[in-house]
Amino acid sequence: MGFLYDIIVVGAGHAGCEAALAGARMGFSTLLITMNLDTIAQMSCNPAIGGLAKGHLVKEIDALGGEMARIADLSAIQFRMLNTKKGPAVWAPRVQSDKKVYQQAMKQVLERQERLTVLQDTVTDILVDKGSVRGVATVYQQSINARAVIITPGTFLNGLIHIGLRSFPSGRFGEFASTHLSDSLQKIGLKLGRLKTGTPARVLRSSINFDKLTPYPPDDKCETFSREIKKFPLPQVPCYITYTTQRTKEIILENLHLSPLYSGKITGIGPRYCPSIEDKIVKFPDKTAHQIFIEPEGLSTDEMYVNGVSSSLPQDVQEQIYQSITGLENVRIMRYAYGIEYDFVTTDQILPTLETRSVGGLYLAGQINGTSGYEEASAQGLIAGINAALKIRGDEPFILRRDEAYIGVMIDDLITKIPEEPYRMFTSRAEYRLLLRQDNAYQRLAVYGNRFGLIDDATLDDVLRSMERVSAEVDRLGATAYRDITVAGLLRRQDWTYQRLIEEGIISEPSGLTDTERFQVELEIKYEGYIKRQHTQVDKMKKYDMWNIPSSLSYENITGLRREAREKLVARRPATIGQALRIPGVNPADVQLIMIHTERLNRSNTSGKK
Ligand SMILES: Cc1cc2nc3c(=O)[nH]c(=O)nc-3n(C[C@H](O)[C@H](O)[C@H](O)COP(=O)(O)OP(=O)(O)OC[C@H]3O[C@@H](n4cnc5c(N)ncnc54)[C@H](O)[C@@H]3O)c2cc1C
Repeated sequence: MGFLYDIIVVGAGHAGCEAALAGARMGFSTLLITMNLDTIAQMSCNPAIGGLAKGHLVKEIDALGGEMARIADLSAIQFRMLNTKKGPAVWAPRVQSDKKVYQQAMKQVLERQERLTVLQDTVTDILVDKGSVRGVATVYQQSINARAVIITPGTFLNGLIHIGLRSFPSGRFGEFASTHLSDSLQKIGLKLGRLKTGTPARVLRSSINFDKLTPYPPDDKCETFSREIKKFPLPQVPCYITYTTQRTKEIILENLHLSPLYSGKITGIGPRYCPSIEDKIVKFPDKTAHQIFIEPEGLSTDEMYVNGVSSSLPQDVQEQIYQSITGLENVRIMRYAYGIEYDFVTTDQILPTLETRSVGGLYLAGQINGTSGYEEASAQGLIAGINAALKIRGDEPFILRRDEAYIGVMIDDLITKIPEEPYRMFTSRAEYRLLLRQDNAYQRLAVYGNRFGLIDDATLDDVLRSMERVSAEVDRLGATAYRDITVAGLLRRQDWTYQRLIEEGIISEPSGLTDTERFQVELEIKYEGYIKRQHTQVDKMKKYDMWNIPSSLSYENITGLRREAREKLVARRPATIGQALRIPGVNPADVQLIMIHTERLNRSNTSGKK
C-alpha cells in the first residue's frame, strides 16, 4: 500500500505542534490536521509557561530539540524563578506569556517547517487494518493514509462545558467538541474515562482598581528557557496580587446548589491542585482570604486573567464573586469562567513510547492521556513524534528512564497508574530530584536530541565542553588545600559560597565559567553526598528496570499471587520488574513471585533452544 504521508498528527495544540515538528524534522512527510488554524498552540487557560516542575519539563523539551522553550522565550512578558527559598533542585523558571504572540510564533514555525503540511479540517475516524493504523478520515476527506497517526485532541473529546446548571457540547468555549473522534476511538477498542477541568474569567484592565492591588514585578535577572535565545525580546511587565474577602465566601456558600460539581451534574474528576474557587471555599472553611494573581493576557490586549478564581457557577453569581474581590469592586467580565468535562483514554492501554498497545502505529499524546497542562502535553507530543519516526525508520524506541528526566517520570507514572484526576507534574513525583535539575537538562538529554537530528553537533559540543569545564573546576577545588582541609571541604560548610571563596581570595577567579556553570560547581560540591546516594539508588533500581518480563508469562498460573495484584498485572502487562514494582496494588512479595517465575521461564526457554 502506498502512503500519502508518513505521519499524521491530529490537533495542533501543545502536544500536536511538538509531535508534528519532531516527525518532520526527523525526515518524514507529516500532515498536521487541526480544527481551526487560528487556535494553533492556544493556551486554553493560564497565559503562562513553566512553574513548579513544569519549568523542568520545558528545559527538557528544549534539550531534546523541541520548540516550546523557544516560543515561550519569544512571547515572555514576565520572568520569575519560583521556589528559590527551597533547594536548587526544585527552583522553577516561569514566564507569563503574551498569548497571541505565542500562538503566532508557533504557527509560523509550523508553516516554515520543511516536510510539514498544516491543514484545517476535523478528523472523524481513525482507519485501522489488521491491528495497524492506516490513516484517518475527516469531515472533507474519506481517507488520508499514513504509516503512523498521533492523536492529540486535548479537552475536545466529547467536551461538555458547564456554567451553572446549563451544559452544552464544546471543546473549549466557542469551539466544537470532537464527538466522532471519541466514538471512533471506542470503535477501535480503546476504553475511555472522563475527567474535568476549569478556567477563570478574563476581565477588563480599565475596570480594575490597581491602587488596591500589590504589584508583583518580574525578576531583575531574567533567564531564558532556550539555549538558543539569549534575551527576551518583549518588555517585562508586572502582574498583581489581591485577595478574596469574607463576602466572596458568603456568595459562594449561598449559591453552591447552582454549582454543577456540588449538585452532582459533573461526574468527571477535576485537578486537585488547580481547584475551583468553590472547591477552595468548601475544602478550606477556616481560611478567610485566598490569594489571587491578576495577570495580563498580552501586551496588545486589555484582557486580564484572574488566576485562582476558576469557577463553574452561573454568570450572575460569577459577577458577584469577582466584584467581591479586593480591587475588583467595579470589574467588568469579558469572558466568563467555566468548567469542562471530557473523555480521555485510560493509560493502561499505552506503551512507554506512547503507542497504543492494541493498534500498531497509533500514538496518543497530551490531555488524551489524562494529563493537564501545556508543558506535560508538549513533552508527550515530542516523545510520540520521535517514537513514530523511529518506528518508521525501524530503529529502537526512545524511552526515558525516571532517573534521566521528568518526562521519564511522567510517562512511567502514566503507564503504571491510570490517572484518577488530571495528572500534572510535581517535583515530588520524582525520586531523583537532585539529578533532574532544570539547570542540567542539556547535560542529561542533548545527546539524545543530537542522536535524533533535533539538536545540531555544534550545540552538543558546546554542552560537552561546558560539562568538562564544570568537572575541571570541581577537581581544582578538591585538589586545592586550605589549612587542614581542601577548598571543596570549606565550600561544603553552610556559610560558604563559591562567590565568597573568590571574594576572599581563597581561589582565583575562574576563567570562562558562565553563571550556570558556577552554580553547578557549587551545587556539585555542596550536595556531593546526596548526589552520590541518588546515583547508588539509581544503580539499584536500574537492575529491576532492565529485568524484562517475557510477554509469554501467564499471571493466571502463578500460585500465591494475590488477586488484586493479578488483576492489575493482567491489565497493565508491565514490560519490566521495575514497572511491576511501581503499579499501585502490587507489593514486593508479588514482585518476588514474578521474578522467580520469570527466571524459570527464561531458563526453560534457554534449555528448550539447546
Ligand atoms: C477550560 C480549560 C481549563 C484548563 N485549565 C488548566 C489549568 O488550570 N492548568 C493546566 O495546566 N491546564 C489547564 N487546561 C489544560 C490545558 O489547556 C491542556 O492540558 C493543554 O492545552 C493540552 O494540550 P493538548 O495539546 O493535549 O490539547 P489542546 O491544547 O487542547 O489542543 C487540542 C487541539 O486539537 C484540536 N482537535 C481536537 N479534536 C480534533 C479533531 N477531531 N480533528 C482535528 N483537530 C482536533 C483542537 O482544535 C485543538 O487545537 C485547561 C483546559 C481547558 C479547556
